[in-house]
Amino acid sequence: MEIQLTGKRVLVTGSSSGIGAAIAEHMGAAGARVAVNYRSSEEGAEDTVKKIVDAGGEAFKVQADISDATAVEKMFAEIDHRWGGIDVLINNAGIDGERLKSWEIEARDWKNVIDINLVGTFYCSQQALKRMVPAESGVILNISSVHEEIAWSGHSAYTASKAGISMMMKTMAQEASPHGVRVLAVAPGAIRTPINKDVWSDPERLKDLKSKIPMNRIGETDEVARLVVVLVSEVGSYVTGETIFIDGGMTDYPGFAHGG
Ligand code: BGC
Repeated sequence: MEIQLTGKRVLVTGSSSGIGAAIAEHMGAAGARVAVNYRSSEEGAEDTVKKIVDAGGEAFKVQADISDATAVEKMFAEIDHRWGGIDVLINNAGIDGERLKSWEIEARDWKNVIDINLVGTFYCSQQALKRMVPAESGVILNISSVHEEIAWSGHSAYTASKAGISMMMKTMAQEASPHGVRVLAVAPGAIRTPINKDVWSDPERLKDLKSKIPMNRIGETDEVARLVVVLVSEVGSYVTGETIFIDGGMTDYPGFAHGG
């Protein structure tokens, strides 16, 4: 079975590095036209665009802080100008914030994580839905996390944002599915990216992390990107309102492999 996204107009937020960059590249390789969004790493976005173009694809970079509603509107206006609409939105941009207990973190830092991860995802989804619903076609895929389900000490804003994304996604799917628009999520576990480099580059911390994963290894960005391409393609045509976990078994309660 061949996966084809020929000519599809795709926006990947936060695709200047990590999982977003890999998704953008795989989208380009599948024939999609890709808008590579970034907030501050213009160099990273240029690198992603170059990789897509060098492989024979079409891409351009577009700057926007997704927590700024006006900036998001402008980004979608630019996409309209270039392509006259959008077929696929990948809400990938996000941060995990500094690791601090809920009674230690500054309220404004806590809110900043929510503003980017949850409110930013809403702003982008809203702009996409305004275009996809009248067009009776489109897919919105959110990059969530195992932490929409697994509590994570020191990251109450991050876990809250991901759990929020889950319910927002389900509600948007209920709203938009009758209009031919699918809304879904992919929840990665520990994937080798800059966000968790401090963990996987330290042998002791990596050992601890692997003990939380039945497959006993961290995942690679390509593994997530391949799944995302499949889900937004026609192969995923009947999937909506669901989060698909890709985590090497992290949500399979590895602590219960013994005892209990
Ligand atoms: C976080 C990573 C973490 C992983 C598993 C992800 O959502 O961004 O830093 O390694 O969850 O805990």
